[in-house]
Amino acid sequence: MHPYPFSYHRPASIDEALTMLIDLGDDAKILAGGHSLLPVMKLRLAQPKHLIDITGLSDLRGVRLEGETVHIGALTTHRQIETDAILASSAGLLPEIAHRVGDQQVRNRGAIGGTLAHADPAADYPAGVLALDAEVVSRGPNGERTIPIASFFTGLLTTALEPNEILTEIRFPAFGASTGYRYEKLANPASGYAIVGVAAVLTVDADGAVTHARIGITGAGDVAYRPRAVEDALVGTRPSDESVKSAAKSAVDDIDLLSDVHAPADYRARVTRNMVSRAVLTAYKRTTAIS
Ligand SMILES: Cc1cc2nc3c(=O)[nH]c(=O)nc-3n(C[C@H](O)[C@H](O)[C@H](O)COP(=O)(O)OP(=O)(O)OC[C@H]3O[C@@H](n4cnc5c(N)ncnc54)[C@H](O)[C@@H]3O)c2cc1C
Repeated sequence: MHPYPFSYHRPASIDEALTMLIDLGDDAKILAGGHSLLPVMKLRLAQPKHLIDITGLSDLRGVRLEGETVHIGALTTHRQIETDAILASSAGLLPEIAHRVGDQQVRNRGAIGGTLAHADPAADYPAGVLALDAEVVSRGPNGERTIPIASFFTGLLTTALEPNEILTEIRFPAFGASTGYRYEKLANPASGYAIVGVAAVLTVDADGAVTHARIGITGAGDVAYRPRAVEDALVGTRPSDESVKSAAKSAVDDIDLLSDVHAPADYRARVTRNMVSRAVLTAYKRTTAIS
């Protein structure tokens, strides 16, 4: 199906893009990789009258390390994240996630900012940015603001971004030496999206006891989330198969689980608990203090 007619705009700067977005109001949409927006336009589920193509704005692309903070521009593609040297050495979780997103064509074109702004419940990065305790930076009519990731995903396909804001970057602390990570994904064999995806980041002390545990879960409910009870149960312990399995039992507590033709809710619950266990145990084994 063809989309409804729209006008195409290609701003030369972030300021120009913002001015267009503010002037054109609710009739306008940002176009990044187009891998989520164009399909919904072709299905006529979205009917923007104006597309503001930001792909020429090189300021929004790339990874940099400033002090101990990693910054990723909104237009950085999945492929760039998968292969980036800074991320490989300072936050290996994201390349591991990017490697599991779609196929090569999707990874070459799709961008992290578009994925986060779209907030698909089956997308991969939401699990990762929760486990990284990231911040999202946006620009709008009132200037720049920083949104903690814990309050960014507000519902199905909905975020804390205002319609007249542009997501400019994601940032988070680089991993320390005693940190291990893992992304586990059960992919839908047809679409490649996550039926369930679990990201885990653990930090340990010199004795191998967990000092910080952060877990992000995507695909299980309509919004990615952190299972705080599981994280709390891990802190202070030296995880074993049994203790992690026990902690992971509460991974879907109080979650309104998705249920569809691919995975009914009780199956998603079992898969999520198992994947939390696997992700945590692998992350723990990867912490340099015990390896
Ligand atoms: C065949 C296929 C398989 C896929 N498989 C997976 C998968 O396995 N896992 C996965 O996670 N994803 C998957 N995707 C989605 C892919 O990761 C897309 O890259 C992503 O969903 C959207 O990124 P995009 O850059 O294409 O954004 P777009 O489609 O251009 O935009 C998506 C939405 O975000 C908004 N937006 C984009 N950038 C900004 C910004 N900077 N500020 C404000 N709003 C913005 C747009 O207005 C639009 O509403 C798949 C897509 C396809 C087509």
